[in-house]
Amino acid sequence: MGYIVRNCRLCAKPMEASPFMMCTTCLMESDRVRNYILKHPHVSIEQISEATQIPFEKVFRMVELGLSKGNTRSNDTIQTQTAR
Ligand SMILES: [Zn+2]
Repeated sequence: MGYIVRNCRLCAKPMEASPFMMCTTCLMESDRVRNYILKHPHVSIEQISEATQIPFEKVFRMVELGLSKGNTRSNDTIQTQTAR
């Protein structure tokens, strides 16, 4: 059940309707990244990637999408649309 209504903001895979912008996998991963950033506010993306075992590019995208700021939806945060 469930219609695929949009693509995950992070990995761009089609996902079912949900109150979130990301698929379950990415939600879990972004949670890990967010927690890590909270504990280590000044790490580089490389370090985050290593510590969380999430690919560099994905961590980069999370940060770019503003996940570290608490997943708020403001229009000015998202200037770079990743259309692939
Ligand atoms: Zn995803």
